[in-house]
Amino acid sequence: AKAAGGNRFERADPEADARAITRHGLTTALPAALDRGEFFIEYQPLVHLGDGSVHGAEALVRWCHPQHGVLGPDRFIPLAEHTGLIVPLGRWVLQEAVRQARFWNRSHADGGPLRINVNLSPTQLHHPNLVADTVDVLERSGLDPGALCLEVTESALIGADEDLLKPLRQLAEMGVDIALDDFGTGYSNLANLRRLPVSVLKLDRSFTQSMQRHPIDPVDLKIVEGIVSLAHSLELAVTVEGVETGAQAEQLRELGCDTAQGWYYARPGAPDRIHSLVLADAV
Ligand code: C2E
Ligand code: CA
Ligand code: CA
Ligand code: CA
Repeated sequence: AKAAGGNRFERADPEADARAITRHGLTTALPAALDRGEFFIEYQPLVHLGDGSVHGAEALVRWCHPQHGVLGPDRFIPLAEHTGLIVPLGRWVLQEAVRQARFWNRSHADGGPLRINVNLSPTQLHHPNLVADTVDVLERSGLDPGALCLEVTESALIGADEDLLKPLRQLAEMGVDIALDDFGTGYSNLANLRRLPVSVLKLDRSFTQSMQRHPIDPVDLKIVEGIVSLAHSLELAVTVEGVETGAQAEQLRELGCDTAQGWYYARPGAPDRIHSLVLADAV
């Protein structure tokens, strides 16, 4: 530790240094990782709260790093976002997830198509080729656009002007669902929802967590009740994420939420798990 004047000390922080080195190493390794096929996707089912049947799945990307093992998206998505690699990486995720959904839907067409949810980062949202790339991926796979849901975080759309909304509007007109992810964390103006081309609200995990406390905070209950009734009056579906217990699922079902996702149903996993869940449903 070296003196920084007076009685203040600037301490060396070896952990922070190590983190910075790893961050730098991961950032420079990203492009080659994409070429080498080190990314893979896990799928987490989305379930109807009413009858427990499978509604679809969310695609969640992971990086199988040759030295560090499997890394979650929180470790590398911000880096990819920063360097712009998120554009080709995001395109790969979309293509792969849509191909997978097409495969699921080929093998069981009845009961309505299984939905596939794909996350879009702010940089992808701003990219001029978003609509063309998405149309291209859908056409080449043959997946019905109505089976695709793109998830955009609430914060990415705060203060969004028409230029930013236009591509989302075009996709929505083709039948693609747009979901507002992490809803309730971004202080967005609820009245603004009417302006956005979204058809699904994904209620942030923090709300689900508050449904776990005993007794449940009556204010939290009122807030969720309010969001659900507003969403339904705007003809938006409500998905809840982070459901870890049956009690939470029951509470959220009673509050009128439509679909749910969380460890209570299944952790993110390999694509054939979704396949077998749906087949099990069908019998
Ligand atoms: P998200 O979109 O909010 O995804 C939900 C996260 O919650 C996932 O974390 C999921 O594994 C986790 N989760 C699901 N159920 C439960 C539960 O019951 N309890 C708890 N505690 N957690 C649960 P994951 O996979 O680590 O992803 C983190 C974030 O990374 C995602 O948050 C999303 O914002 C981003 N992400 C993932 N894949 C992609 C991608 O392909 N593109 C982009 N742009 N972002 C992605
Ligand atoms: Ca998401
Ligand atoms: Ca979310
Ligand atoms: Ca989140």
